[in-house]
Amino acid sequence: MKTKSLKPDKVNIVTLGCSKNTVDSELLLDQLKGNQISAQHETDEDANIVVINTCGFIDVAKQESIDSILHYAERKQQGDIEKLYVTGCLSERYKKDLEKEIPQVDAYFGTLELPFLLERLGADYKHELIGERTNLSTPNHYAYLKISEGCNRTCSFCAIPLMRGKHVSKTMERIISEAESLVKSGVKEIMLIAQELTYYGLDIYKTRMLPELLEKLAAVEGLEWIRLHYAYPHQFPLEIIEVMRKHDNICNYLDIPLQHVSDPVLKAMDRKIDKAGTVQLIKDIREIIPDITLRTTMLVGFPGETEADIQELQEFIEWARFDRLGVFQYSHEENTSGFELEDDVTAETKVQRCNRIMQVQQEISADINSQKIGKTLKVLFDRKDSEYFVGRTEGDSPEVDNEVLLPAKDNYIRLGDFAEVRIVDATDFDLFAELIV
Ligand code: SF4
Repeated sequence: MKTKSLKPDKVNIVTLGCSKNTVDSELLLDQLKGNQISAQHETDEDANIVVINTCGFIDVAKQESIDSILHYAERKQQGDIEKLYVTGCLSERYKKDLEKEIPQVDAYFGTLELPFLLERLGADYKHELIGERTNLSTPNHYAYLKISEGCNRTCSFCAIPLMRGKHVSKTMERIISEAESLVKSGVKEIMLIAQELTYYGLDIYKTRMLPELLEKLAAVEGLEWIRLHYAYPHQFPLEIIEVMRKHDNICNYLDIPLQHVSDPVLKAMDRKIDKAGTVQLIKDIREIIPDITLRTTMLVGFPGETEADIQELQEFIEWARFDRLGVFQYSHEENTSGFELEDDVTAETKVQRCNRIMQVQQEISADINSQKIGKTLKVLFDRKDSEYFVGRTEGDSPEVDNEVLLPAKDNYIRLGDFAEVRIVDATDFDLFAELIV
């Protein structure tokens, strides 16, 4: 086994899970660098300390986090690294079990324990760095901006409130200053994220303030795209869509996880909205912005879900023709209210239902994409792979949505720049383009 190196500490931050974790890891990196501690996102280069920011959402995510902890625990035993710390949702939820099961980890921290983690890393929590966003793990031209933490909803399948606590909004001043700081460092596109975006402001301003926040963000000079992720459908404030229509720099894009549409399932999920309300909401949104890109997620295999429920969901998807749709299989999570129900849909049926809904969506997506052939679209280019410059339209969020591919052989694009392209071909989930010069 190697002994403690004489070189200064270098921290490798490994991030699993969703974009909220991405932001937390970026804040950790900001704090470490503010303390003159060398640190990086996802690097293997001679880091002697590893911090894993874990996810505890559903079974698959938990397993991925555990595998990562075991991988680095093994590397620690081999002497490749000296210290291993674990933070994030899994650690918040299962700290005691993890301490017992994987004792090779030097310390586990919960989601609100950043100051303690920093202390173990030899750093002070610097309040003056709050709102500074200088160490992105995304390409420099886009960033995630978390407007609140936690969730006050009681969806019966969801373990997130157990790990992230009650809803706490950031002040508008802080969000605007964070957005300005991001734009100053070169960011052109911001993804607004929260567990529940539409609840924003109810805790600190006693009223929903997302429309006002959007007005202020739209006025930030240099901010070219603002994108909304994770809006809860019940009591959805339609003013959001009015504000979206008013401002060119708020993308005509909404991520609104609906989870299901059958009334018995929605009721058992405690979603507070029924099918009629859901259908009306989609109509209302599209009445204000007919060509809005709607992204949603569905959850199949919830306890008690029948063939009739899944058929109803399928027909709803065929009617709604969402631009983007993801499907999760229900995961029976302890300490949620859904855990009291019998997890009676077999694993095999969950997979079949998931595939069935995805198959329907694939056909819808292929059809929507084929209608874009011949159209001119504004694209923001994120990266270059071997054959293509890869970008996105206003209707596509990074990582989760479609991409636009422009042949790299005949074109030159500076990454992070916008360009006008003509769509020349389409597949189920991607578009092929030529540059308009
Ligand atoms: S609104 Fe979203 S985060 Fe909140 S409990 Fe429901 S599913 Fe979970």
